[in-house]
Parts: sequence; C-alpha cells; structure tokens
Amino acid sequence: MPVYNFAAGPAVMPAPVIAQIQRELPSLNGSGMSILEVSHRATDFDRIITDAEADLRALMQIPDDYAVLFMQGGGTGQFAAAPLNLATDKRRIAVLDSGQWAVKAAQEAAKLGRQVDVVASTRAAKYTRLPQMPDTLPAGQYDYLHVCMNNTIEGTAWHQAPRTGTTPLVADMSSNILAEEYNVNDFGLIFAGAQKNLGPAGVTLVIVRKDLVHQVPGLPSMLDYQLFMEKNSMSNTPPVFNIYAVGLVLKWLRQQGGVPEMQRRNEQKAGKLYAFLDQSRLFHNPVVSADRSLTNIPFMTGDAALDAAVVQAATAAGLMNLKGHRSVGGLRASLYNAMPLAGVDALIDFLHAFEQHH
Ligand code: PMP
Repeated sequence: MPVYNFAAGPAVMPAPVIAQIQRELPSLNGSGMSILEVSHRATDFDRIITDAEADLRALMQIPDDYAVLFMQGGGTGQFAAAPLNLATDKRRIAVLDSGQWAVKAAQEAAKLGRQVDVVASTRAAKYTRLPQMPDTLPAGQYDYLHVCMNNTIEGTAWHQAPRTGTTPLVADMSSNILAEEYNVNDFGLIFAGAQKNLGPAGVTLVIVRKDLVHQVPGLPSMLDYQLFMEKNSMSNTPPVFNIYAVGLVLKWLRQQGGVPEMQRRNEQKAGKLYAFLDQSRLFHNPVVSADRSLTNIPFMTGDAALDAAVVQAATAAGLMNLKGHRSVGGLRASLYNAMPLAGVDALIDFLHAFEQHH
C-alpha cells in the first residue's frame, strides 16, 4: 500500500531526491566521506551551496540586486531577524493580519520593541478570507509591511503580492515558496523555512533586496543579514546536510519544469480536492474561493469526533497526517510540490468512500 504524507511541515519530499540522498550518503562524489561529515569549507560543499543559490535564482528569476542567504532558526527566526535588520526606531511596521503566523510575526516584532500596526485583519471572519490591503499606506511611516503569503493553518493565500506603493514588502513564503509564481521584484524580503516545499527542517531561505540591508549595531551574528550577505552565508558553520538536500530538491524542480509547471500541477491537485469538498455533503472547506491556498487545504465535517474518526481511518489507509492544526481542529491536507496527483486522487477516493458510509 502506498503511503501519502499530507503533513504541513516537515513534509513530503520528492521520492527521487530521497533515493538520491540514500545513494550518495556513504560517499559524496566518490570522496569516501559522507555529506554528514564534509567540511563547510570543502570544495565539494562550495559547489553545493553555489549551485543551490544558482538554481534558486533561476527558478525564481531572482535579479542581481537581491541577495540569497541560507540562515537558520526557521520562519520564527525571521520573525525576529526582519524587524531587527529592517525596522528603525523612527518608523513602524505594518502587518496584514491574515492568520496565526502573521500574528506571531507581529508579536515577535513588538517583543523586540518595534511599533507594530495591524493595517487590516480578517480575524473577525475567522480568517476565511484575506484582509483587504488599504488603498494607501501613509508615506514615510512604515519601514515595511509584513504579509504571510500563504496561511498554512487557515488555508488562504495571496496569489499576487499586495500592492504597498513605496513601502517595502516583507513576505513569509514558508508554505508556498516555489509552489506558485511570484515576481521577486514586488518584494523587499522573502523568507521561508525549508521544511515544507524545499527540504528538511533546519535551513531558512532569505531573499533580500540588497539596498535594504545595512549594518545594524548590536545584532546577534546569527540574525545579521549584512554579515550573512558579506560572508556568503558562511560566517559560521551552515547546516551542511540541509543545504545539500535543498539543493537536490531545487535541481529536481528544474528538471520537472520549474515553478510554472509546479503551479500548473498544484492548481490541478488543489482544484480536484476543492471540487470534491464543494460538492460533498459531509466535508466542507470554509475559505472564499478567490483566496484559497494551493498548498494547505483545511476541511471539516463540523463534528470533532467524526473528524477524528476520519483521521484514524485515513491513517490506516496510508493517508498520513491529515489532522488539522491543533489550534483549529478539523482536517487539513497539505499538497506541496512533492505531493503527487496520485496522492490527491487516493485522498478523494478515501473521503468519498467515508462519506458513503456516514
Ligand atoms: N510561517 C508560516 C507560514 C508557517 O507555516 C510556519 C510553520 N508552520 C512558520 C512561519 C514558523 O516556521 P518555523 O517552525 O520554521 O519557525
């Protein structure tokens, strides 16, 4: 029986990449040493990190005036790094409150003493749609606007970058980077923890417009964009294995046809599941259709005990990790790039059969 992993993160990785890691694990490039043992100063690793950056640049068409950084600390680390590097004490941070991860980012910035304004929120609508970006932001008032492009818990996504005028946009793309097309030029900063669409947990991608990066006195080195930029992410020991694994995923993505092809597949996968949910008399997705995520699809029966029964029966059928986020309950299917269409078909068949019996 095939097993399909619908976890929100750490999440499914491409099967050929897992197989390649297994093949190469004992001896990297015939060196007799494992990637787990290789120095980050070794030529082999230099090639790995250089290739990973080049492949990411090609996939996202990242212009030369943007730096690519490989950091640690996950999305949560960036909730601190962005305000520490980009927010001054003269201006404020604007936040679009589209869900729990946006709130977390706002809270972290506030904890660090930054002034945070929620400029729009759909909290009252239980985040079943995206907040409306205000027509204008007061000029010169904000260092940046923070947006969570894909709301992993609530299942909404901006399919186009919100328009912020001259205010730089800081985007949390943790759960949909490389899953749909965006224009990097619309953003001042993009960050993403690797563990959803990029590879194993432990490395965090940062794409930042170079003119926004400057020396900030007193920053911890591990959160210092300027230092990471100057030292090509090697001011200290980077997560060598993780960068290697992300590099393999990026090569796989390019072989598959890049982001346009991923978006086509993700629209097909998500479209099938939404179509099923919308006609189901048992299951229901609460998000308005224009704002629906391609990668994280929450759904529920409305009865917590029945939701739990679905999870249990699904697990027995090899459909893993369908339990919704602990804060909202229900069910959730995460359909990242590495989830094959066959997995979605199996899920729909299962849900259909479950519905017939209830
Ligand atoms: N942002 C989003 C959109 C997320 O989904 C998550 C994790 N699920 C985070 C931030 C936090 O990331 P991390 O666990 O890597 O700190």
